[in-house]
Amino acid sequence: MAVAYRVRALALRKTKLGESDLIITLLAEDGSQIRAVAKGARKMKSRIGSRLEPYSVADLMLSPGRSLEIVTEVEMITSHDALRSDYDRLRAAAVVADFLDKVSVEGQAESRTFALSTTTLDVMETADVADLPLLVVAFLAKGMAMHGYRPALTACACCAAATVPEDTRFSLSAGGVLCPACAGQDSSVVRTAPDVPVVLGALLGAKLADVSALGVPSDLTHDALILMKAFVTYHVPARMKALDAYTREG
Ligand SMILES: [Zn+2]
Repeated sequence: MAVAYRVRALALRKTKLGESDLIITLLAEDGSQIRAVAKGARKMKSRIGSRLEPYSVADLMLSPGRSLEIVTEVEMITSHDALRSDYDRLRAAAVVADFLDKVSVEGQAESRTFALSTTTLDVMETADVADLPLLVVAFLAKGMAMHGYRPALTACACCAAATVPEDTRFSLSAGGVLCPACAGQDSSVVRTAPDVPVVLGALLGAKLADVSALGVPSDLTHDALILMKAFVTYHVPARMKALDAYTREG
């Protein structure tokens, strides 16, 4: 008989199953994805359901099922309630969950993603609302770097030659800025503002809690967000509705 086990996880998404159950998509502490059934979770008095709202962190007892795990106990660690009660925070947190839902894989560990994600949500809960877009950019840049797509921002991503700041071009496929010669041969090149690579470099080097202190102007944050959206979309095949909505509404 399969043995139940305990895991700390971040809830990313819930999907209805049958009359009263939910399928919860989770990011486990080791960075792998887990999908689990919470039986009876949609009933009014379900304690399991109320503790597995998206963006909450919990300790779960899981029992292996035939195709999905089964949630047998939930102990709330951090509810992140403020993310669900404020529209701006909710939209930013939704991008985090959407990204994790699409890049995490069952049985595939990535040891740094969980800490990055929970720290990002902690900071988003109390940050100045005006700083949320920059936090989203920082999360996406760091998240892409952890999954093998750390952007090259100081020299040409193809040949390491110097780039021309007045004509900044970023290769989505090569994942970095390009010199004029290489840019001419790359069909995935997008133009961006000269300061965008500088901002992304600063974000990659900063802790999430220190991002707002960088004082990045909002128009530059917007340019960086548009570039990161293009970069993520190029490399992650699944459509991210929350990221689409975030860049559409600004
Ligand atoms: Zn080059």
